[in-house]
Amino acid sequence: MTLAVFQKGFNYVQDGRGNRLVYHLRGCNLCCPWCSNPEGMEFSAAPGTPVSEIVDEALSCRPMFFDGGGVTFTGGECTCQFDALKEALTLLKQAGISTAIETNGTAARLPELFGLTDELIVDCKHYDPGIHLHTLGASNETVLANIAAAAAEHPDLLIRIPLIGGFNASEEDMERFAELFLRLGADRARIELLPYHEYGKDKWAKCGKKYTVHDAFISPEQREKNEDILRRHGLTVVRT
Ligand code: SF4
Repeated sequence: MTLAVFQKGFNYVQDGRGNRLVYHLRGCNLCCPWCSNPEGMEFSAAPGTPVSEIVDEALSCRPMFFDGGGVTFTGGECTCQFDALKEALTLLKQAGISTAIETNGTAARLPELFGLTDELIVDCKHYDPGIHLHTLGASNETVLANIAAAAAEHPDLLIRIPLIGGFNASEEDMERFAELFLRLGADRARIELLPYHEYGKDKWAKCGKKYTVHDAFISPEQREKNEDILRRHGLTVVRT
């Protein structure tokens, strides 16, 4: 089996614990208007990299995995290449490498990866299924079911909300997120608010796509207020 990778490199802490070799897998089933990797959203028919090569590469990097590091698969959306991803995670786990994935949570088969990932990072972009569908191209129903399952079964779940002004970042929105996470039983998960940025904006034009997000920045004070709202509901807020 092969994996289509469009970018790889080391990253400290931002994509899981410690120093990690991060593989960005090509293709995504959502269309977030703020996506910072638009060059990785499209699927490709080009031949990918054999899973065995990726595993060998990771094994050769073992000395670099300090502070609890290892390998992270992100995207695009890594679960769009589900079977090859599962094989890679299986082989890495067997080799004793710490594994993590960052996912938009839309894969119905996601629970199959719970036992193969030491850390599971799931985005929750909106609490409302209709808004999720309208803005991102798919409902959040599977995402929420996966968060509930992971909250019950996965020992290390990090839920990330990209804070996008005008979309999901008001205090009322945070109340709704908090109520949702409690309803899903995610009170033991870590939750992180990631303020909107425009690091990927210039890449949209290069990909021949129009960037449509405006005025979506969040002030540091608003981020803190939103974190406080989650904490008041007994949730654990982190910054990685
Ligand atoms: S889920 Fe992630 S990769 Fe996919 S479009 Fe949204 S931000 Fe981009």
